Amino acid sequence: MALIVQKYGGTSVGSPERIQHVAEKVMAARQRGDDVVVVVSAMSGETDRLVGLAHKLDPRPEPRELDVLLSTGEQVTIALLSIALQKLGCAARSYTGAQVRILTDNAFNKARIRDIDETAVRKDLGAGRVVVVAGFQGVDEDGNITTLGRGGSDTTAVALAAALKADECQIYTDVDGVYTTDPRVVPQARRLARITFEEMLEMASLGSKVLQIRSVEFAGKYNVPLRVLSSFQEGEGTLISFEESQMEQPVISGIAFNRDEAKITVVGVPDQPGVAYGILGPIANANIEVDMIVQNVAADATTDFTFTVHRRDYSQALDILRDVAIGMGARELSGDNKIVKISIVGVGMRSHAGIASKMFQTLSKEGINIRMISTSEIKVSVVVDEKYLELGVRALHDAFELERAPK
Ligand code: ASP
Ligand code: MG
Repeated sequence: MALIVQKYGGTSVGSPERIQHVAEKVMAARQRGDDVVVVVSAMSGETDRLVGLAHKLDPRPEPRELDVLLSTGEQVTIALLSIALQKLGCAARSYTGAQVRILTDNAFNKARIRDIDETAVRKDLGAGRVVVVAGFQGVDEDGNITTLGRGGSDTTAVALAAALKADECQIYTDVDGVYTTDPRVVPQARRLARITFEEMLEMASLGSKVLQIRSVEFAGKYNVPLRVLSSFQEGEGTLISFEESQMEQPVISGIAFNRDEAKITVVGVPDQPGVAYGILGPIANANIEVDMIVQNVAADATTDFTFTVHRRDYSQALDILRDVAIGMGARELSGDNKIVKISIVGVGMRSHAGIASKMFQTLSKEGINIRMISTSEIKVSVVVDEKYLELGVRALHDAFELERAPK
């Protein structure tokens, strides 16, 4: 007998029929003898609808009131699922975040979980009930309702699993697992049976949107085995867990890409202390996130400084730097917002040489010019022109033989 936390996303609970289907899946787990805690999202589109309502009255609603509003979406689904379970003859009880006592800080709209009181949940499980908990929400010390940021139900599920020391946290969604890359770009993309927390974090931060990043960090920190599965299809999904040393790791596990990139270059700045700070300081002050940063070795007394930002921040970043560049005596300010980032990810890279060069060779064979490169222990990223995204990802998927399951 195991203790399982199951999380169902918005599409999985998007209609009474789908909620019925979820109830049947929960029931099946109960009949296998498992204790089940279920975390649900709001019905698909509901959170957006609520945000839209608030925006009709105020484009910048008070964060506290917005959380009171948004938390209602999940309150609907916990009640409906509990009703469906009881109708099937399965004892169940619903709880809002505040009722379980998912204690958070008071950062409305993006609160962080501090503590979970699992007493009530344990008592219900002991009495043979399924416990249904509203995702995405909690309560602060003063009793205010808080929410955890969009996609936050994943984090609720993982946090509950950690608090209860559950055997597994299962995230049911509309895809049947984590793939070697986006199947819309590479039809031969393969579902991974397993991936490590570290790899999943890289994949998620690089644009693969299966799980909220914070939930993966949380799961890694508390060593909660996390499984991504489809609500609509049978299957094993993808297990996200720690590396097992006896396991032979594939060198590359997946290819992530990000289309929302833009790069900016300050050309010909004097090579002297304070240049990086002089350029990136004002960017940070405007709350613009910077990703890759490259500064050339100065050949004469000047150097070029290049960095990437999210495409939506591109024109603002350029505006900020116009005066800065003049003030520094730079030769020119240039930029390009038609670029993308492609990354290969795999813990096996640690023990294999030549991975980066194989990546570069593959791209060069296709005539793809690499504009920037950055590496970490388990990742190599390149920036290339937008028009080469599909070609580049397919060529790499092929070169690293990702369509073939490791033996
Ligand atoms: N309902 C919230 C959202 O749409 C939380 C979630 O689905 O995880 O972002
Ligand atoms: Mg969601």
